[in-house]
Amino acid sequence: MKKLVKRATPAAIAVLRQATAIKPSRKKASDGLLPSAAHLKQNPNSDHNTGLAVDLTHDPKHGIDCAEIFKNLQNDPRVKYLIFNRKIWTPQKGTDPYTGSNPHTNHIHISINDKCGNDTSPWFVWLDKPVYKTADQARLAASKLRPLPKKKAKK
Ligand SMILES: [Zn+2]
Repeated sequence: MKKLVKRATPAAIAVLRQATAIKPSRKKASDGLLPSAAHLKQNPNSDHNTGLAVDLTHDPKHGIDCAEIFKNLQNDPRVKYLIFNRKIWTPQKGTDPYTGSNPHTNHIHISINDKCGNDTSPWFVWLDKPVYKTADQARLAASKLRPLPKKKAKK
């Protein structure tokens, strides 16, 4: 069994936060970072156990279309593998049928390469930039995506 962590990696957390910033009304019912006890028992070697995996809810009605994400994230070097709608993609083998017990029709599973856990650069570069009603909302969203800047020296 892999070492169990209590916190998801920043890269995994960024997937969910950035998706919400871009599509604020998206559904989150199948979002997931760390495994539940049941999931852990079923999948002792899941990347969720190391914080290097994230499940994002499929909600095309509100702009999060996991079929589109499945295709586009194949260009992201952080991706170790993707699972969506009975398909698995790896950089080594491309797309293959996925026959695991969960067909992944209501979320995409994204596994992240070991060395990329701290990389929070944008995941959804092809999607529109988020639309905010006020400058305050935009600033708040930006502060959640990036670490806060260090205090500036007094002038
Ligand atoms: Zn998953």
